[in-house]
Amino acid sequence: MGLLSLEHGKAAYQADFVVYGAVVAGLAAALAWSGPRGSGLADLGWIAAGLWLWTLLEYLLHRFVLHGPQPFRRWHGEHHARPSALIGLPTLLSTALFALLVYTPAWLLGGGWRASALMLGVLLGYMAYATMHHAVHHWPARTAWMLERKRWHARHHHARHDPQCFGVTFGFWDRVFGSGPRPLR
Ligand SMILES: [Zn+2]
Ligand SMILES: [Zn+2]
Repeated sequence: MGLLSLEHGKAAYQADFVVYGAVVAGLAAALAWSGPRGSGLADLGWIAAGLWLWTLLEYLLHRFVLHGPQPFRRWHGEHHARPSALIGLPTLLSTALFALLVYTPAWLLGGGWRASALMLGVLLGYMAYATMHHAVHHWPARTAWMLERKRWHARHHHARHDPQCFGVTFGFWDRVFGSGPRPLR
């Protein structure tokens, strides 16, 4: 299993959380120490915008990329076929994609500190998603909300002929775009 394989050993799978945890801590420290003076509220606003942006990215990427063209459909099909296997995008690839598709355009449009705050929010969202996706497949549900998220994602996995329920952390965008729960065929 190399740095770019989809199926990970436990260490590589956990490394994703460690790497992103470190990047999030680094971005937060950079904003706190070298962001413009008095920009705390604006920072929080951009972080919140990043979190919100992630929820939309999570939905769009899952619906139109992972369930879209090859080779993404095949890669994601591996997870659908074996939901308990430790399968995920390699950390090296996901960091490159975040840098290229989120940080660079945000930096060009809004400058370094806004891009860093937005990126921080997006990565917090990504970590919440990665944790939630692991939890729905591997952990028992201890709250009604968690049970609902587990059921939602189980519908996604079982509705092969009528794809639905693409959001993992929450179902808002599925309701907006009409892909919420439908009776299973
Ligand atoms: Zn899927
Ligand atoms: Zn899944």
